[in-house]
This record gives sequence, structure tokens and C-alpha cells, in this order.
Amino acid sequence: MTYKTTYPYTGEVLQEYANATAEDLEKALTTGHALYKTWRGTPVSERAAILQKIADAIVAHKEELAKAMTYDMGKLLTEAEGEVDLCANIVSYYAQKGEEFMADTPLESPAGNAHYVKQSTGVIVAVEPWNFPLYQVVRVFAPNFIVGNPIILKHASICPKSAQLFADLVIEAGAPEGALTNLFIDYDLVAKAIHDPRVAGVCLTGSERGGAAVAKEAGEALKKSTLELGGNDAFIILDDADWDEVKAVAPGARLYNAGQVCTSSKRFIVLADKYDEFIDILKDAFSKAKVGDPMDPTTDVAPLSSKSAQEKLQKQVDTAVAGGATLVYSQDPIDGDGFFFQPTILTDITKDNPIYNQEMFGPVASVYKVDSEEEAIALANDSSYGLGNTIFSSDIDHAQRVAEQIETGMSFINSGWASLPELPFGGVKNSGYGRELSELGLNAFVNEHLIFEPTK
Ligand code: NAP
Repeated sequence: MTYKTTYPYTGEVLQEYANATAEDLEKALTTGHALYKTWRGTPVSERAAILQKIADAIVAHKEELAKAMTYDMGKLLTEAEGEVDLCANIVSYYAQKGEEFMADTPLESPAGNAHYVKQSTGVIVAVEPWNFPLYQVVRVFAPNFIVGNPIILKHASICPKSAQLFADLVIEAGAPEGALTNLFIDYDLVAKAIHDPRVAGVCLTGSERGGAAVAKEAGEALKKSTLELGGNDAFIILDDADWDEVKAVAPGARLYNAGQVCTSSKRFIVLADKYDEFIDILKDAFSKAKVGDPMDPTTDVAPLSSKSAQEKLQKQVDTAVAGGATLVYSQDPIDGDGFFFQPTILTDITKDNPIYNQEMFGPVASVYKVDSEEEAIALANDSSYGLGNTIFSSDIDHAQRVAEQIETGMSFINSGWASLPELPFGGVKNSGYGRELSELGLNAFVNEHLIFEPTK
């Protein structure tokens, strides 16, 4: 059995789930495909009304959804509650904007009458990660519901409780059978689904390894894919930064969700004259951050999602130090069965350090000293990733000029990373391709169907 809820605070296995079979997949494909055909003939407004009911149901089941996420992958209950609120907003956003986003688009052509209509394409397979168990699913479910693309969900094997709870809630709120089918399938069945002619595309959020495997199947099957992968986001502090703001934002930009966010600030880039001051700020905040019980509202840093995540991160820190990095701040490991990881600061990571171009998925901050803004920009860009990036400057024009020079999908000015329904989310380079959220996210698996009548 692969799918299980193991509570990261205690290491206890709370529930195991039987794997879905090839027959389960076939049933889901049949139901999803039939729904796709039905939805081709029904107006967007009908789905928008149901979607609003789903948003309301998310709000009504907030505590249940939040607790399921905390038990599955250990996040702070307070952060899980915030995630539920955001998800309700995303679902509501698509319920309200859906009809507008799906409207016909006239085209100017001297050759005749032309416009395109946005149409659904079929069942979409969604492969999602554990770090935001609800949000990752909602990001693809809500826009595709509006479009009329049913979803088959393959969620991470460590968050089955959250996955099933949400899938049940969608149906209870009034969505038709097949709109979102959660299946506890293995990788082979994911590949089988991608190759099935009833499936129009696949989206994956996760690692480069998982992304490459799924994109390979999609390529072979000639299916469209979108990939939301890892990041090694820079946090650049320019010479005119407001240091009160830097102090308020920097620690949380690394520690939120125990540092397990694709857009966490992972590389802090600081000018030489402010470097020592910044290290002191980070050390002070990290030493005050309380690591512990995710259900306790006074806890700041939750345990990591799994034993293997804890072991992998420790190995990366050890590798960094063996490669010449300085461990500027850490504390003794916490005793017990929970998958804790103490906030850690690394410096002196040189280009030849094996960790230089690796994402560290946990509360480990890498701090780099640079002598100029040009050097800061070059360092930020010297990464195989290009997901997000943060810039601090009290001059907005200055910040925007620097932002435009970073090879990344998203830049945040004078704030840590952010995600809102109306802001497109996604990256470049090895951080993936395609966008989720906003109108761009809704277009991911749409057929922009041209209808043209030439002038005679
Ligand atoms: P992962 O191992 O790639 O897992 C993500 C999902 O892919 C899981 O459901 C996993 O299933 C599945 N999967 C992996 N290999 C597969 C294969 N060959 N065939 C079918 N499914 C496969 O990723 P992770 O390490 O758990 O997640 C963390 C990563 O996600 C980080 O790198 C993070 O930065 C990235 N992330 C990116 C974004 C973004 O929007 N760009 C957002 C959040 C997270 P199992 O659980 O069963 O292995």
C-alpha cells in the first residue's frame, strides 16, 4: 500500500489507503469523458453557479480541511487555515470571472469575419504535490471546471486524506460525478491515463524528476502538458532598501510552511556593507522561531512533511558544509519521532559547491555576499531554476528595473512570495512551463477554436 497518512509531528501512521486499480481508472475515464461530452452542450453559467457552491462548502468545512492537511503533511494548523481561505477565494474568483474569461474573442482581419471561441478539450490528469494539499488541486480544478474539462487527480502519496476529503466535498456541493475524481494510482497507471485518447492533457506540480517523467509520457502521447516545478528563488536587497521592511519579511519568506514552498526565498543576496547586519537579523529571528507542535498556534515552524524529506535536507546541509559552506546558524536536532528540522543558515557557498544549484526544501537559508547590484543580478540568474524572486528597494522604479533583468516567472517587490487568484503563477527554465491561476491559468487546456468566413 503506497498511500498513507503519517502524522509528521509524531511519525505515527494514522491511516492507509488501498491503491486504485486499472478498473478504477477505466471507470473514472469513462465517467469523465461522458461528462466532458455533456458539458460541451451546457452553458458556463451553470458550472459557475456550482463552483460558487463549492467555494461556500470550502468555507463551511474549513476546520476539517485544515486539520486533514496538518495530519497529512504536518503544516501549522494556522497556515492550513490560511490555505483554505485562499482556496475558497480562488474557487470563488473563477465562479465570478468564468463567463467573462470564456467569452468569444473577435479578431480583426481584412480578409473576412473571424473570431475564436474557447472550448473544452477533455479529461485532464492532475498530478499534485503535498506541500499545499488543497491549494495545488484548486489551482487546476477551478479553472478547468469552468472550461468544462473534468479532472482525474493523482495526489501525492503522503496526503491521501486531504485529497479524498476535497474530492468528496466537490461532489457533495453539487458537482456532477466525474468533475473531480481522486484516484490512488501508481505511476504506471498515471502513464496509462496520459496515453488514453479520452485524456487531453496533464498538469504536474512537483520535482524536476517527476515533471520530466510525466512530460516524457505526455510527449510520447502528443498530449499538452504544463509543469510547475521547483525553485531556488533569490531575495535581493538593493542599496536603497528599507531595512525595517527587510527585517519584517525576510525570516518568514524562508520559514513559512517550514520552508517547503517552491517560491520560498532560498538565496538571500546582500551587498557587502550590509551583510553582517543581515546575518544578525536572520540569526536573531531564527533563534526565536519556535519549532514544534503544528496544532499549537504559538508554533512558528512545523515539522517537515516526511522522514525522507528530513533525511534529504540533512544530507544536503552536510554536503554543503563538506563542500566548503559555513554553518553560520543551527541548533541541535530535536529529540523525538517527529520530522523536525531546526532553522539553519549557510554562507560561503561557492559555485563549485554541489549545493549551489540545488533546491533545499526546508528551513535552510543560504546567504550570499556581493559587491554590486550587477553581481547580485548575475548571481540571481546563475541558476537552472527561474520560478520567483524578491527585490527590496524603497524606489519602485529601481526595483522594477532590476526585476526585469531577472530570468524568472514572478518577481515580488518589497514582499515575500505571494499567490492570489488573479496573479499568474509559474516559471521558466527548469522551474517548468505554463501558468496557473488568473485568466492565463484558465487558458492552459482550452481549445481556442477559430471560426472564419472569408469576404467574397
Ligand atoms: P514529486 O516527487 O515530483 O511529487 C509530486 C507529484 O508527482 C506527486 O503526486 C508524486 O506522486 C508524483 N510523481 C512523481 N513522479 C511521478 C511519476 N514518474 N509518474 C507519475 N507521478 C509522479 O515532488 P515533491 O518533491 O514531492 O514536491 C516538491 C517539489 O514540488 C519541490 O521541488 C517544489 O518546489 C515543487 N513545487 C512547485 C510548485 C510550483 O508551482 N512551481 C508548487 C509546489 C511545489 P508520489 O507522491 O506518489 O510520489
